Amino acid sequence: VKNSGKNNFCIFDKAIEEKVERAARLERDLRGALDRNELYVVYQPKVHLATQKYCGAEALIRWEHPDLGFISPIEFIPLAEEAGLIDRIGDYVLLDSIEMLKVLNFKKDEPFSIAINMSPLQLERENCLDSINRPILHSGLSASRFEFELTESAMLKTNETHSFEILKTLRRQGYRINIDDFGTGYSSLSYLQMLPVDVVKIDQSFVRDLTEKAANKVIVESVIKIAATMDLTVVAEGVETKEICDYLTSLGCELAQGYFFSKPISSKELKELLSPPHGA
Ligand code: C2E
Ligand code: CA
Ligand code: CA
Ligand code: CA
Repeated sequence: VKNSGKNNFCIFDKAIEEKVERAARLERDLRGALDRNELYVVYQPKVHLATQKYCGAEALIRWEHPDLGFISPIEFIPLAEEAGLIDRIGDYVLLDSIEMLKVLNFKKDEPFSIAINMSPLQLERENCLDSINRPILHSGLSASRFEFELTESAMLKTNETHSFEILKTLRRQGYRINIDDFGTGYSSLSYLQMLPVDVVKIDQSFVRDLTEKAANKVIVESVIKIAATMDLTVVAEGVETKEICDYLTSLGCELAQGYFFSKPISSKELKELLSPPHGA
């Protein structure tokens, strides 16, 4: 708003006030939401482009508010972080993913993993490693079935701190670490080498109009090339069309995720999607 006359200012004020009130209400309601079973996890399949086979899925949290309806994690995850609830949500997503993998019941040599989003705050909790290892050891599942995703900006903040050591330990234990939303955090490609990561997920904003924007082509191509020399796996996110899927395949991009293949789906739907005859 350029010219904030008195009236404009009032409207602006009111909008902020409503936003603040909504945030306060959501934060309050979130405390009981887990116990009331309002939170659940959906899974978005990931595809190996060369073979067009499903090779994994990303776990994504959902909140169905009884009065306000669906609330995006983009809105409530920051509130959960602020309210000190992110560890409980993280534990919940991990347990759901473990159950999912048990239901899918893959044979040892069938590659399939579930990627779990992590807030940088979870790396700072005192029992971080234990909170991951205990339920997974108990399940009997291999660490290689799990990937942990941190956004590029979160990852950069861990550099040379205790969190950095936690990530290195997780990798040693056989978990994979993914750098999420890559390209949005202003780190240089060469910097990737110093980070404890195995997988680079190219942000959707570069993938969405890949075939139209020359600049995005250059970015995606360079990430794929350099990742290959560093032995990193590349995942393209937000693949919505066949055209983009084909183009990524021609560039040698290894994995892809997006509405073209599947939206995030329930655990029941994922089980059906991966069951024979289709999955065999
Ligand atoms: P993200 O980790 O980058 O997840 C990808 C988001 O893109 C998801 O939104 C997914 O539904 C959406 N998406 C996938 N394919 C397409 C596509 O082809 N087109 C478009 N337009 N969108 C696509 P979602 O589920 O709303 O999650 C938003 C963000 O919330 C996630 O971004 C992640 O940062 C955060 N989040 C979600 N679940 C969790 C969680 O369990 N823990 C934490 N800490 N954060 C989470
Ligand atoms: Ca993610
Ligand atoms: Ca992402
Ligand atoms: Ca994101």
